[in-house]
This record gives sequence, C-alpha cells and structure tokens, in this order.
Amino acid sequence: MKVLAIPMLAPRSYTREDVVELQCHGSDVCLHRVLRACLEAGARLAEPGEFTLRAFLNGRLDLSQAENVGKIISAKSVAAADTALAGIQGGFSALVKSLRTQCIELLSEIEARLDFDDEMPPLDINFLMDSIDAMWQDVQKALDTASYDKLLQSGLQIAIVGRPNVGKSSLLNAWSKSDRAIVTEIAGTTRDVVEASVTVQGIPVTLLDTAGIRESDDIVERIGVQRSEAVAMGADVIIMTVSAIDGWTSDDTKILEWIQNNQKSTGSPTPVILVINKIDCVPSAVELFEANSGQFSKRVLTCAVTGQGVQELESAILEILGLDQIPAGGRRWTVNQRHCEQLLRTREALSRLKSSIEEEMPLDFWTIELREAALALGQISGIDISEEILSNIFGKFCIGK
Ligand code: GDP
Repeated sequence: MKVLAIPMLAPRSYTREDVVELQCHGSDVCLHRVLRACLEAGARLAEPGEFTLRAFLNGRLDLSQAENVGKIISAKSVAAADTALAGIQGGFSALVKSLRTQCIELLSEIEARLDFDDEMPPLDINFLMDSIDAMWQDVQKALDTASYDKLLQSGLQIAIVGRPNVGKSSLLNAWSKSDRAIVTEIAGTTRDVVEASVTVQGIPVTLLDTAGIRESDDIVERIGVQRSEAVAMGADVIIMTVSAIDGWTSDDTKILEWIQNNQKSTGSPTPVILVINKIDCVPSAVELFEANSGQFSKRVLTCAVTGQGVQELESAILEILGLDQIPAGGRRWTVNQRHCEQLLRTREALSRLKSSIEEEMPLDFWTIELREAALALGQISGIDISEEILSNIFGKFCIGK
C-alpha cells in the first residue's frame, strides 16, 4: 500500500502546529488499515471540531471566523456557503475588533479623567456622542443580517393552498421548473402534500402543494386534506391561489376563514399572499377580487402554465420577510444567533451610555457601560470565553474539521 505524507510545518498550517496529512488509496479497507496503524502507533482520533478549535486557540482564527468554518461545512445553498466564506475572510471579525478597540480607547480616556482630572483637558462630549452613534449604527447593521442568516440556515416553508383545479400544482411546477407535482384536470388529484425545492435569493425554500382543501367523501382524499391543513398551519408563508376564470367563490371565502381562524388559535399571524392564477384567460379579472384583496399581505397575478408572475411572487415574499434590501450576489457576512445576543448586549450598553452622558451622570457610570460593551464584543471574537461555550460551538463540528 502506498501512502503520501504531506508535512505542514508550524506556524504555516491550519492549526499553526506541525501537521502531517496522510493521503492513501480511497477504499474503506485501505483507510481503515492506515487509521488502525496510526492508532496502534499511539495516535488518537480527533474530537469534533478539534482542528478548528486548535486553530482558534493558536490565534489563527478568531471565534466568529471559526464558527463560519462550521457554517460552511453545513451550508445548504450557494448563498449560505458564500456568506460563511465572507465570515471566514474576516469582514465581521474586523468590525468587531475595531468596535472593541474603540470602546477600550474611550474607556481609557474616561478613566484617565477619573484618576487625573485636574491635569487632563475636558472631554469633547460632541465627539464622544458622535463616536457612540457611529458604533451603535455599525452594531445595528450587523444585527440586520441576523434574519437573513437564520433563513439561510433553516430555510423557508411555503404552503400553496386553494380550491381544487385553481392551478396549485401547475404553480409549483412552474416555480420549481419540474414535473414533481401531478397536474390533471380532475378535481382532487393532489391527494397528498407534494414538496418541491427552490431557492429565493439564496434562501432554500420548500414549496408545499397541499391537497385542495374541500369536503370529500373519499377517505384517501380526506386524509390528504387533513395533512394539507396541518402543513398550511406550520408554514412561514401561505400562498392562497384563486382562479381568474371563476372569480372569488364561496369556497374561497371558506378557505380564507379557515386560515384566519387557525391564525387566531396559533397567535402569530402567518403572511398570506393572494395569487390570482389563470390570468391569461381573463386578464381583467383583478376587479373580481378587489373586495377581498385587502385581507392579504400581497396580491400577485400569475399564469402557472407559462410561469408568468413567478418572479413577482418571489419579490413579494422577500418584501414580506423584509429581505428585499439584501443585495443580490456578492459576498456578505451574516451574524449567527450567538453573535446576535452579544451584539444586542453591546447595543443596549451603548444606548445606556448615551443616556448616562445626556443625563450628566458621574463618569463611573459611563465606564460601566463601555466595559459591558467591550466584554460583549470580546465574547464574539472569543476573548476570555468559557470552556462551556467553546465545547458547545466545536462539539457541533464534524470530526476531522
Ligand atoms: P390544482 O388542483 O389547484 O393543483 O390545479 P392544477 O395545477 O392541477 O391545474 C388544473 C388545470 O388548470 C390544469 O388543466 C392546468 O393545466 C390548468 N391551469 C393551471 N394554471 C393555469 C393558468 O395559469 N392558465 C391556464 N390557462 N390554465 C391553467
């Protein structure tokens, strides 16, 4: 058996330690033999995330960069991988570092005045307030990326509901450009929930085509209807499809009432988009829905057989989720939940600092807030971080990373 050994000497390796990489023939048998030989010679298996943890402990990466290594491994879309890569490249780390440095500089300015008040020129309060404002804005901008980050990781579930035959399956097919859903002219064909995947601005979206919600004697269809009700309730966005040919019908009213009743019971309203499909057949049909359109978050006209209107539908979804400001393409980092908590802590400390200055509180109060902000920012980069947080972060990595 032949093995290629690649030595990577400290500090020019990923972990900044001496590393030897062994490359061998790619079958499981060969790999296990080599692994066993290494273990017998005294090596041990790496813990999950151990290499990245070592890279962090040796100062190769800061903690937020290391977390982005984990994110890139689990990325489910190109956009998720791109944002993780931007995070590793250090845009966010640099921002956090600079904010923390500013906090410490202001802190030493103020503390110097606590100790040697007579010998120091007075603090320039306007400059101080401007600096705090600028820092507050930077923190806020970073926080603004959190909801996009969450969607990139967890994706979005969109349920397409509506009467039978209005074109739900056709819409799903046009959107996902596939024939995943069965499309027929017999009402009640889509007996179960059909899924398709699309990406909207990099966000993985699962489209759920539900069985036409209607009363039925057919037991199989009834089960399908129950499932679609459950799916629609759990979705992040509901698309209610109606037909331009039929106008608004009493069954549409029933479906909308059903959605609204369920929303009342769950407490958190799910946005509902009205899709007027088959607009090719009756281009003037919009008027028929005027009276009901106000009950929806957005209204979009589509022709599911040609795909007309799908793009508008995507824009409507992004707008509802407040994501229409996210620039398309380009590498941009995002903050995860842990960063988010510390950024909120920083923002609150900065807000309290501003009030303390405005209310002319003693300087000691100012320093408390600046110390709090510096501490929170330090937690993001991994300065003075607890063992527990580290094992929580790196434990989620896979072995060998
Ligand atoms: P579903 O029961 O709501 O899933 O409806 P389907 O997607 O099965 O569509 C029912 C019928 O309407 C099929 O014959 C489709 O080809 C037709 N259809 C769907 N969307 C459109 C559309 O936008 N324009 C036209 N002209 N026909 C459509």
